[in-house]
Amino acid sequence: MLKYHIDKIPDLRVSEPMVLDLSLSEEIGATPGVFLVPETEAEFKEMKGRISGSLGREGTDVMVDVTVDYQTTLSCVRCLETFTRKGEVGERTLFFHEKGSTAEELERYGRDGWVDLAPWVRELVLTDLPFYPLCHEDCRGLCPECGENRNTGLCTCPTEG
Ligand SMILES: [Zn+2]
Ligand SMILES: [Zn+2]
Repeated sequence: MLKYHIDKIPDLRVSEPMVLDLSLSEEIGATPGVFLVPETEAEFKEMKGRISGSLGREGTDVMVDVTVDYQTTLSCVRCLETFTRKGEVGERTLFFHEKGSTAEELERYGRDGWVDLAPWVRELVLTDLPFYPLCHEDCRGLCPECGENRNTGLCTCPTEG
């Protein structure tokens, strides 16, 4: 679970931070989240990897430091073949819980003292995925004449220009 109650998060002034080491597919891949659009749902279902880092607080300020190692299957926008993308993304952030919190902060924190890291971790990975996934930088794409994948060498159409 990536959801922690403030009472269970160690106070760094008196103890060591909680060590996070979780399966990405179990925490993120299985359940739909608020940041997810349908096109990326499949990518998250395919997602494998680990979430590692630490969690602690000072009073009600919760500090999170995670690194996400992920591996997922994407489709190339040029040749439409699927390929594996591996990536690593990390971030530190603070979750505040104060009386003057905005609606957005309360959303992140939870109204009854729960911190849910799942939407944040999802967003981290999502922003690390390429907007135009390419199997290779120099992917030659599909032939507009015969429709063959030009990376395979099966297309014998004369090249233009
Ligand atoms: Zn390609
Ligand atoms: Zn062709």
